[in-house]
Amino acid sequence: MRKNSINAQLWQSKLEEARRKNREKQRKYRESGHAAQAFKERYALLKSKGLCVRCGKEDADKGRVLCWRCRLNDRDRRIGVKIEGQDTEGWARKREKARQQMLKFHARRKV
Ligand SMILES: [Zn+2]
Repeated sequence: MRKNSINAQLWQSKLEEARRKNREKQRKYRESGHAAQAFKERYALLKSKGLCVRCGKEDADKGRVLCWRCRLNDRDRRIGVKIEGQDTEGWARKREKARQQMLKFHARRKV
């Protein structure tokens, strides 16, 4: 038992170390400006191809940079923020209704 817990501790500390290194790496990458540049390039490339700039898989909707799926997720998030201290049930119902309509519409289109 004791050996196990020592192993677990060791594993934990290794994990922490790896996480710390990873965070450090991400920070450096962010600060170097490469990330922003890469993001801009990807954005421009996907937009020029008419693909969704977020997932890069689905076609973007006409006149938009996101596909319907990402727009739906986006809206979910926005509504989620709105929900706090408000009519949660009403919002949830509206959201579910919109989602079902969207899924139905796109399921029909796909086939
Ligand atoms: Zn998308």
